[in-house]
Amino acid sequence: LKENNAKHMWHPMAHPADMRSNPPKMITGASGVEITDIDGHTTLDAVGGLWNANLGYSVDSIKHAMTEQLMELPYYSAFRGTSNDKAVELSYELMEWFKPEKLVRAFFTSGGSDSVETCLRLARQYHKVRGEGERTKFISLKKGYHGTHFGGASVNGNANFRRNYEPLLPGCFQLPAPWTYRNPFGTDDAQEIANRIIALMEEEIAFQGADTIAAMIMEPVLGAGGVIVPHETFMPMVRDVCDKHGILLIADEVITAFGRTGDVHGSRLWGVAPDMMCTAKAVTNSYFPFGAAMIGEKVAEAFESNKDATGSIGHGYTYSAHPVGCAAALATLAETKKARVWENAKDRGIELQAGLAQLKDKHQIVGDTRGIGLMAAVELVADRDTKAPASKAAVGAAFDGAYEAGVTIRVSGNNIILSPPLVITATDVSRIVDAIDKGLSAAANA
Ligand code: PMP
Repeated sequence: LKENNAKHMWHPMAHPADMRSNPPKMITGASGVEITDIDGHTTLDAVGGLWNANLGYSVDSIKHAMTEQLMELPYYSAFRGTSNDKAVELSYELMEWFKPEKLVRAFFTSGGSDSVETCLRLARQYHKVRGEGERTKFISLKKGYHGTHFGGASVNGNANFRRNYEPLLPGCFQLPAPWTYRNPFGTDDAQEIANRIIALMEEEIAFQGADTIAAMIMEPVLGAGGVIVPHETFMPMVRDVCDKHGILLIADEVITAFGRTGDVHGSRLWGVAPDMMCTAKAVTNSYFPFGAAMIGEKVAEAFESNKDATGSIGHGYTYSAHPVGCAAALATLAETKKARVWENAKDRGIELQAGLAQLKDKHQIVGDTRGIGLMAAVELVADRDTKAPASKAAVGAAFDGAYEAGVTIRVSGNNIILSPPLVITATDVSRIVDAIDKGLSAAANA
């Protein structure tokens, strides 16, 4: 199996030669918050699948709901107005859940990239329907990640994810990432950084022409780009600038929705109501590839008041509103609310940040630790003064050391990224910190 994994599966993010010398772990079982690899080694999954197994791997109510749905109605398309009972129930539940954000309609997708693409496409359509068809450009943030489709790649904040796919959507531009550790402003004052980015946003909009810009897309807390937590005033200020210029605000909450930040959603954390929201991942607790792209009143009204536009949008997927996905999402939402997992995420997150800060005191290789709720990053550097990234060998040693010590972490560039299930205990937090401690000792000697 291990050999065929390297030989017959296409792993675009891992070179086959590396995989043969250092085979990635193959997972064969999971229970609670732990996963077991093909060699029988069990670890605490501090990655939570890929930011998505928020409730862990043993939630029977979700598994039963999916099984029952398979027996009742395994599939029917939600296309040109058809639907299924679970999809309608789920739309209702989500709209209740997102009431404070004034979201009114959900469109179901097969994952985060689809949800992002849906919002980007709808944003352009929205302006066309309103007779503002020249508004086609998108603004985003450096370090933002928005999936792998061409639209999502066009707004990706990491040039490495764009360059192989160019030419992308024309006219997209990125503002600096709102972080204190590395920014172009020469200050670590988060409020000052937020103000400076907003000033740049205004400048860039004036330069491009507000009437050429369709939407701004941003993660309320940036995830895959290295867990970057903006100042609390940042997203509200972005909202104001968007309103001032008739630009839609799309919140990419593929990671931050459903409790990860320690609040119910990332937008709620900052008190912002976006015009559209992309979700996926934890919406089904990872058990089914699924997403929901949701729109607010303003966007819905634009379409509904124009009879010619509605029905001719030309956007739909074969697996939109898949009944098994909808059943999984309904059961996930019920469990999420019942356990109020965002509260545990907040409390355990505070403990995790404290533990990581201690590791920074102890290990010179740690340049920065950051995060909120149960999303965290430990940035590894070769030199604290120059902030030069740690070597690939050191980062690899940190992963292996933590794995040997019983915890799976994620490494991305020179960052350790943590996104454990939101149901972890204080003891689990200690396990994570202790294992990373061991990994960092190994990294220092690599
Ligand atoms: N947006 C964000 C913020 C994400 O983190 C991701 C995935 N990591 C995506 C979009 C794309 O989601 P998917 O991988 O399910 O297509």
